[in-house]
Amino acid sequence: MSKLTLDEYQVRARTTYSREERGTTEGIAYTTMGLVGEAGEIANKNKKILRGDYQAEDIREDIAAELGDVLWYISMVAYEFGLSLEEIGQANLEKLASRKERGVIKGSGDYR
Ligand SMILES: [Mg+2]
Repeated sequence: MSKLTLDEYQVRARTTYSREERGTTEGIAYTTMGLVGEAGEIANKNKKILRGDYQAEDIREDIAAELGDVLWYISMVAYEFGLSLEEIGQANLEKLASRKERGVIKGSGDYR
């Protein structure tokens, strides 16, 4: 299997997104609510580990599938804003590396 870049993923994910016009209020709301919903599915499954319903290893594949759903919605939120998933990933890594270098990984504030 060849390596899949984030931008390739975003292009292919887009083929399964039905909205034609990019950047509409509805499209932004739809994808954002979908992202939060899928993240909530992960939180709910992990809550059940805390509750003792099962062990983490029992739901590993389920979590992988839900993370895929989250990735799809992240990709489509980015698409709605005309953003490249590859560039988002790169910028995030650079931001975190800078914080680590300056000793401000911990703390608060988006622009520290
Ligand atoms: Mg899901």
